Amino acid sequence: MVDEKTLFYAHTENLKRELNVDPLVFFGEEAKEKTKKYGSLFLGAHVWEENPEFVAVADTNNIGILAHEMRHSWQYKNRNKENYTFRSSSNKPWILKKLARALYLIYYSFNRKEMDANNYAIEYCRKTGLHHEVLRIEKLIKENRLAQVITILAHPLFVYLLYVVWAYLIV
Ligand SMILES: [Zn+2]
Repeated sequence: MVDEKTLFYAHTENLKRELNVDPLVFFGEEAKEKTKKYGSLFLGAHVWEENPEFVAVADTNNIGILAHEMRHSWQYKNRNKENYTFRSSSNKPWILKKLARALYLIYYSFNRKEMDANNYAIEYCRKTGLHHEVLRIEKLIKENRLAQVITILAHPLFVYLLYVVWAYLIV
């Protein structure tokens, strides 16, 4: 029986070879520590703003997330050729950063980079026989969509409520 960490290392090497990238890869507590200043680590992250760039994965059991983040590394490496934009928000004012983050979360699964990373992760897990990981990614995508629909619907409702409160207080 191959243990989880050995499998994680094997997939890391496999993905590096297949994508022709070589980021540092952190997992578990170390991954959380490394990504602290970029916000809390939910499942995984790819940090290109640092040299060397790195991939962080919360759980070594999550090969789909590893494949997703490694694909971001590939996008970063081929950003000119493949026309992917990587914009740093570190020099923007705090409020713009918050706004950009909120918009990003809403449009997350319509984002070309995320769609490509998810498609790649699904394909990678499918061909390596990790069918439970395929299901997990598909479930995550579905949940993201649902959260977006709720958020988008909640916006006009919120504006309407503000209007009602305003009208009530003024009149
Ligand atoms: Zn992503």
